Amino acid sequence: MHPAWIEINSNQFKRNLLLLKNILGKTRLCLPIKANAYGHGLLPIAEAAQAVGVDYLAVAHLSEAIRLRQACIKAPILVLGAIHEEQIPDLLRYELEFTISSAYKAALVAKKCEVLKKRCRVHIEVDTGMRRTGMRPETAALLYNTLRHNPYFDVVGIYSHLASAHDSDDPIAHEQIKSFAKLVSEAPFANASLLCHLANSSGTLNFPSAYFDMVRPALIAFGYLPQTVSPAFRDLAPCFSLKAKVSYFKVVEQGQGISYGHSYRATKRSRVVTIPVGYGDGFRRDLSNRGSVLLHGQRFPIVGNICMDQFMVDVGQNSVYVGDEVVLIGRQGEEEIKVQEIADQCNTIPYEILCLFNERIPRIYLA
Ligand SMILES: *Cc1c(COP(=O)(O)O)cnc(C)c1O
Repeated sequence: MHPAWIEINSNQFKRNLLLLKNILGKTRLCLPIKANAYGHGLLPIAEAAQAVGVDYLAVAHLSEAIRLRQACIKAPILVLGAIHEEQIPDLLRYELEFTISSAYKAALVAKKCEVLKKRCRVHIEVDTGMRRTGMRPETAALLYNTLRHNPYFDVVGIYSHLASAHDSDDPIAHEQIKSFAKLVSEAPFANASLLCHLANSSGTLNFPSAYFDMVRPALIAFGYLPQTVSPAFRDLAPCFSLKAKVSYFKVVEQGQGISYGHSYRATKRSRVVTIPVGYGDGFRRDLSNRGSVLLHGQRFPIVGNICMDQFMVDVGQNSVYVGDEVVLIGRQGEEEIKVQEIADQCNTIPYEILCLFNERIPRIYLA
């Protein structure tokens, strides 16, 4: 058994999905599970999502989609990222839906489909303001008019991505929703019965007008909410905890330095324990002398620089033993360390904190 682990509460995750489905009603739910399902583990999360009956799974890359298909995930999978020519045969072979975001890529796909005599299912991506990938709305219409007459193309959807939708007054979101709504309500899209989708998590929380036929929320499906949120979403809750066992105990004298570079010196004689997690696991080094952990339901500070595989915690005069359970993310007793707190301490966002945890820490799934 590895002395550190991530616990995923599968029941809580499924409750989140059911709650979202309930709110969405007839609007379909596409669950993005890119980057190892935001650190939660690609396959178990896909299986849970499939069990609850989400309509679509989405990933960024072909490689993620292949792992899903090889694990017998049968749900429709949309590859969101821009595709590359050499990936086309596998996109077809694994029955993946993928994104067309330029006429150039569409031509490459058309050629390959003809050679292989295989049809493809695609979504046209339009850029309404993200300026990352996606066609201009005018060219999307032109392209659709060619693709719909191509026997190898099944255009099943049209989508765009929001650059900002943090509150219901967000002018960027308003602009993007307006532009997408206009596009899909006009020829040739108006009567095309394509799946129209736009909203990510913040769009789903703040803009019912951005729902169209399907939404693609991931962060809120994993239970991470902004500070203020409408009552309907309030029962969404995180299902991810990071825990470890104390691996070492010692007493440090006043003035003694701790860890690489002695960036911390004990202000008085104190008990210091070692935790077997480091930046080599994805636990950010920015938490050196800044973050804290929970032991026996109490908060204690991380002292000294975080190493690749371990870090130290000052427990003062408390009795802590080797083998005691320590919580790095999640609840213990009345206390909780949230991903948001860690993200703030690292000057980043919860997304990055979550997906940095790599395969060295095993994930344990609680029913
Ligand atoms: C990652 C991603 C999402 C999900 O974003 P959240 O903010 O986690 O909901 C939706 N759509 C696209 C295109 C994405 O890349």
